[in-house]
Amino acid sequence: MYKLEPYQKDPASCLPSDRKFGLYVHWPFCRAKCPYCDFNSHVRTTVDEKAFGNALLTEMTHMASLLPEHPSLSSLFFGGGTPSLMPPWLVEQLIIHAQNLFGFATDIEITAEANPTSTEAKSMLEFRQAGVNRVSIGVQSLDDANLRFLGREHSVKDALAALDSVRTAFDRVSIDLIYAFPGQSAKAWSTMLGEALSLGLGHLSLYQLTIEAGTIFHTRQRKGEMMALDDDRAADLYEITQGMATSAGLPAYEISNHATIGQECRHNLNYWRTADWIGVGPGAHGRFAVYESKQRCLSRTAITTRRSPARWLNAVNTIGHGIEKKEIDTPRDWAHEMVMMGLRLRDGIHLDAIKTLCGPIESWLDFSAVDQYVDCGWLHHEHETSSLVTTSDGCLRLNHILSTILR
Ligand code: SF4
Repeated sequence: MYKLEPYQKDPASCLPSDRKFGLYVHWPFCRAKCPYCDFNSHVRTTVDEKAFGNALLTEMTHMASLLPEHPSLSSLFFGGGTPSLMPPWLVEQLIIHAQNLFGFATDIEITAEANPTSTEAKSMLEFRQAGVNRVSIGVQSLDDANLRFLGREHSVKDALAALDSVRTAFDRVSIDLIYAFPGQSAKAWSTMLGEALSLGLGHLSLYQLTIEAGTIFHTRQRKGEMMALDDDRAADLYEITQGMATSAGLPAYEISNHATIGQECRHNLNYWRTADWIGVGPGAHGRFAVYESKQRCLSRTAITTRRSPARWLNAVNTIGHGIEKKEIDTPRDWAHEMVMMGLRLRDGIHLDAIKTLCGPIESWLDFSAVDQYVDCGWLHHEHETSSLVTTSDGCLRLNHILSTILR
């Protein structure tokens, strides 16, 4: 069985002096609701783009006022919903406004998610002119029957044509694929993954189909339909995924995300490394720390905006932002988040760095449970470097591991 090779994480990446800062913009509208989707997405035939655009700009200004000190933005991410439905002029305005408010790191990564239709591929070429430099395309499957099952509006042919078009303008392109469909065989998935790897992309997001509460798939599953592969066979496909992607030079840097060296999504790494980011738009989240010194965290603020587009818009027009909830996380909350997110990453967590930021580690991490999982090969603990990493066997059981090591 393939094993992930743990490697040393740079401890400095956890410390305030080297922490990254990102901005997320949520465009919540879609043409149709996919039956497996639990994102904050809403079907609209028409959208008042000017009103929503102005509100995003206004809320961005408000969020900036909450952070008197911040580094330049290292990443900006347009997510959704379907951000490829945004008008390019608005994307450009938002990028310019973000640069004026926060400043851009010289190597800023600006990503937009896109659906693989010809219209949206054309928009992506205009997004490139607006400053977007990375695209993540929701291909989802290279099998038309799978796409129909997922309720997607595009075909494999559409997706490959959109990908060809987008690649003429972007150096950094990722595609999403879903696996573990009901009845999917190891051979069928291996063949599809082989086709995806042969495209020569630098980044692939390979998600196991999971059935989320509140979705149409969830309702159908409750009525007795088989909506995804059983756990054992899905685990087999996960192992095939790890082995094939690694052999092709795209090892997992996170449980479901694979990249060649340097092509990792820096924005998503910010989430998994629990760095600082703000979010604007309906249902966006933001989290940022306030530091007592270059070595120690004082507190961390967690912000959530209103999920309903209409209520969010109304709030922004009335009070300048759509914030619904603002909470101060304790250092312990933050330490928990660092472990839960960081153990998803190939480079794991650096226990000394978390201790430096958040205080005594023994009060929230059960070391006897950690040792037990080290003994059974699910975690790798390197005492000398204080790194803790999930092995490939452990990745399949991460929820269980977290439920016992955190207290
Ligand atoms: S296009 Fe994306 S965000 Fe919209 S419903 Fe489908 S999966 Fe959800």
